[in-house]
Amino acid sequence: MSSYKIETKCIQSGYEPGNGEPRIVPIYQSTTFRYTSSEQMGRLFDLEESGYFYTRLQNPTNDIVAAKICDLEGGAAGMLTSSGQAANFYAIMNIAEAGDHIVCASALYGGTYNLYAHTIKKMGIEATFVDPDCTEEELNGVFRDNTKAVFGETIANPALVVLDLEKFASAAHAHNVPFIVDNTFATPVNCRPFEWGADIVTHSTTKYMDGHAACVGGAIVDSGNFDWMAYGNKFPGLTAPDETYHGIVYAEKFGKAAFITKATAQLMRDLGSIQSPQNAFLLNIGLETLHLRVPRHCENALAAAEYLKGHEKVAWVSCPSLPGDKYYGLASKYMPDGTCGVLTFGLKGGREAAVKMMDKLKMIAIVTHVADARSCVLHPASHTHRQMNEKELLEAGVQPDLIRFSVGIENIEDIIADLEQALQ
Ligand SMILES: *Cc1c(COP(=O)(O)O)cnc(C)c1O
Repeated sequence: MSSYKIETKCIQSGYEPGNGEPRIVPIYQSTTFRYTSSEQMGRLFDLEESGYFYTRLQNPTNDIVAAKICDLEGGAAGMLTSSGQAANFYAIMNIAEAGDHIVCASALYGGTYNLYAHTIKKMGIEATFVDPDCTEEELNGVFRDNTKAVFGETIANPALVVLDLEKFASAAHAHNVPFIVDNTFATPVNCRPFEWGADIVTHSTTKYMDGHAACVGGAIVDSGNFDWMAYGNKFPGLTAPDETYHGIVYAEKFGKAAFITKATAQLMRDLGSIQSPQNAFLLNIGLETLHLRVPRHCENALAAAEYLKGHEKVAWVSCPSLPGDKYYGLASKYMPDGTCGVLTFGLKGGREAAVKMMDKLKMIAIVTHVADARSCVLHPASHTHRQMNEKELLEAGVQPDLIRFSVGIENIEDIIADLEQALQ
């Protein structure tokens, strides 16, 4: 981890060119890398030496950008993936297998809910979803002998539930398993979950990190703090020999980089969800201004939330930075500088009025996206969470009338004017 402040890390981390080398991160647009000795390339395949040989495993552009995100989170090792979905899939598959169990906070992004509730279930991994506001006793009660991880989102998309990170970290650690946090909405500018006990952080870099709605991407960062060897029987994938690499033991050989090395060497090798170097290049340009954009998103969201709260046609507003919000206390503790630019609200006319109002918006667009420079809205019950029944919707914190509003970095007066005419 560098000693720079977060703003400097956004610009400088991950890449320091030598004499005569490109000033900004070059795109290594190459599937493969040349060697003069066949012996040396053999050592790369055995993980005896580190080096590039095939972009499905590693690519220099991607590694530079992963190193920047790792530094922003204060981690020990990081990797990019093709999407946030791939990041959350790999984070679990790297430590759990058929017959295992995971504990998840129930307020989750719809895609992650489907992944954990249905897709990995077909692979034999079962998830228990717990109310993020549950008591410590309730939380401790859902662990089993075969539980391998605890998962939650810093700020849930779209429920905007702020996770009590310390509560979840201490329950995970009391049961000798790592705590994995999807930090997409908060970004490391507003919250660094490792400082609150998380062991592994994932991101959909598609959102604020890219920030311009240009590239789908993901990232995984490991704090290096979880001691796999101490609970060896629980995590044989990390603590027992990997026969596909001549019997190396990841936790012994790679120390704090064990989790990421295994995810790269096994999962990326076999499943191949790589980020393209071109996308990593664009992501890096987004990251350079993350520290400027995130505060403006937060400021605009708070102003829009205050405006909506005072409007006669609005039934409710949820924005964790708004005093009086159910999660204001947790937000002030974990994210004192701001939460995110996303807020949700409902109209007195319910679901029908929501859809009607959205259709009247002019500048603010209806898109399946959040967390980019442009203001946009979505109705999760009709769009992202469409597959869920009413009960699943409410468990995920999504009321049927909920409008998700991702406040952009346009001038706040233009944003409010568009809301005003659509509400009229
Ligand atoms: C969007 C999102 C994901 C999925 O990421 P993709 O890049 O779309 O695959 C995961 N988690 C959260 C919190 C998200 O907002």
